[in-house]
Amino acid sequence: MRVICCYHAEREARSALALSRYAPGAELVKTPGLFGYNEAIASRWTGENDLVVIEADKEIMADVLPSFEVCGHRWCCYAHSIYPMPFTRNVACGLGCVRFSAEVQRLVDPSEFLHEDFDWLLPCRDCGGKGCWRYLDTRIAWALFEHGIFPHVHGYVEHHHVYPDDWGKAGPGERPPPIPAAEAIDVKARWLAAIAARR
Ligand SMILES: [Zn+2]
Ligand SMILES: [Zn+2]
Repeated sequence: MRVICCYHAEREARSALALSRYAPGAELVKTPGLFGYNEAIASRWTGENDLVVIEADKEIMADVLPSFEVCGHRWCCYAHSIYPMPFTRNVACGLGCVRFSAEVQRLVDPSEFLHEDFDWLLPCRDCGGKGCWRYLDTRIAWALFEHGIFPHVHGYVEHHHVYPDDWGKAGPGERPPPIPAAEAIDVKARWLAAIAARR
């Protein structure tokens, strides 16, 4: 199992500490520019080993790598939240803390996620839809969906991204509609309950 921690500029302190404790062998991979993240994933998508991606602002726990090691599913993850309250969503199809089995890498060619963005997404303000890091997770998820593969959620990791106060205010359509905070919290609770019930 190959474990990489991808970061663009800085690594978040609590996440870095957790990585050093629970995944000390992880390879630190800087993802420069708009397309560095694409390259980081695609160049390791060789089908030889399971590939675990942990982003540098996700705080993993002791159970993350052991549970990935023993799992027979093809695509596994720990869900996490995105966006500040009251816009919080919970994500299970991202790249925050995810395992792509060697089998999945052999089934899905990188060309299936290295392409222009889908036209049903809000146009990317950085690349204009050429397919940069921003929607890489969406393109990978869609490629796997096309093969009938869906994420096996193992748990939940904290996401320590700090959003600026003016997040999403740069223009219309740049953020999703708010949802009640209670509901956002409840989504996390539902994940955890569903996972607990399956064990
Ligand atoms: Zn799994
Ligand atoms: Zn883009």
